[in-house]
Amino acid sequence: MTSLEQTCRAELVLANHILARADVLDAFGHVSMRHPERDGHFFMAMSRAPELVEAGDILTYDADATALDADGRAQYIERFIHSEIYRARPDVLAICHHHSPAVMPFSVASVPLVPVYQHGAMIGRHVPLWDSRDDFGDTNMLVTNAMQGASLAQALGPHWMVLMRHHGATVVGTGLRELVFRSVVACKNAEFQYRGMALGPVAGLTEGEIEMAAKVPPAAIDRAWDLWAREG
Ligand code: MN
Repeated sequence: MTSLEQTCRAELVLANHILARADVLDAFGHVSMRHPERDGHFFMAMSRAPELVEAGDILTYDADATALDADGRAQYIERFIHSEIYRARPDVLAICHHHSPAVMPFSVASVPLVPVYQHGAMIGRHVPLWDSRDDFGDTNMLVTNAMQGASLAQALGPHWMVLMRHHGATVVGTGLRELVFRSVVACKNAEFQYRGMALGPVAGLTEGEIEMAAKVPPAAIDRAWDLWAREG
């Protein structure tokens, strides 16, 4: 294993812990990052609660979501979310799929999720909704194969986050730290919007505000990462 690979795995372990402690992930949900050296490959933990993930749990997947080093260990059923989004979006270097309580109401009710504060702008101007019934009719509400993953990737399109009807959400980033930051602030944004709507109508940021506020400098993302990573 190269030292670059080792660094990636260590960061991915931290990402698992941070997202779990931020209530983005719980016993379920997962986070992955693209392999820095092997085309189409990506890293993701074996099937395990993210907060418990250790360096030795990180598996290497090929472009078809086949684990190269599972050695009989259980794998996330929904790994095709990751393989198909990496295939469709060369700009995406990290992905998080989750069922956070903050975001779930927006996957259940017909209310669009919109940016309502500065960092919330990172979810982008439009958060599409993927309805698995459109292509697959009734399912067990999981993404269990490449066709379903590709359908989800198509619904995501060029955006940063896709809601999944009565299921959860998938968030993408151009780097692991950016992805973690976007995933956390998307949940905060959903909470703020939900609470705001309890008080009255919520309009959200303007298009100009979203465009400008979405450009969060890497230094700000690192500042948050350092805080969230302090417990390892
Ligand atoms: Mn899921």
